[in-house]
Amino acid sequence: MTAAAVTYAAGDGRTGMFEFFKLLNARCEDHARLISLSMDHSLTRSQRLAIKIHVLYCKACRRFKHDAHMMRETIKMGCGQCNEFPKAKETSLSPEAADAIAASLKARMSDDQ
Ligand SMILES: [Zn+2]
Repeated sequence: MTAAAVTYAAGDGRTGMFEFFKLLNARCEDHARLISLSMDHSLTRSQRLAIKIHVLYCKACRRFKHDAHMMRETIKMGCGQCNEFPKAKETSLSPEAADAIAASLKARMSDDQ
């Protein structure tokens, strides 16, 4: 199935059913593309349903969907509010600590020579 077929918009009910059955047999790559697409665009009912069914039995796509949403949320939070990525100024060394490290490195370098 090509990307064009995956993003095919359903017009009437019969076209939607055709699209739905086609998506049920789509590859994981196509479902991953739809999952990514769903984060920024609205999908047809057939596409949404096909993804829901696919992730029920496909662990890889279920994980991809979870990770994509987690990544989106992490980016939304931004580094300023994320505890795992503190601001650089909060982790910078004090001048005394920087001097102590520099002195220690100089002492080790002179010992090696
Ligand atoms: Zn899959």
